[in-house]
Amino acid sequence: MEGDICWSNQSRRGPRDVDIPEDVKKMVLMPPVTKRQPGRRRKNRIPSIGEYPVTKKTKLVPNKCGRCRMEGHNRSSCTNPI
Ligand SMILES: [Zn+2]
Repeated sequence: MEGDICWSNQSRRGPRDVDIPEDVKKMVLMPPVTKRQPGRRRKNRIPSIGEYPVTKKTKLVPNKCGRCRMEGHNRSSCTNPI
């Protein structure tokens, strides 16, 4: 696997081998200005599955018996005489 070899070489060498030019070393570096924007932060995270309990949808159409055609029970629990 060529990709594996390339990756291991990169990680062994590390970022310190990179030569920093002198004029860059002399420069005074300031940290980036990171200010939190005013106002309420918008919710930007999508909740993962299982984070919120799944609300069971109420059945729009109630069970209808296929035997006596009455609602509220099904064929297997039907006790009505035909
Ligand atoms: Zn029935």
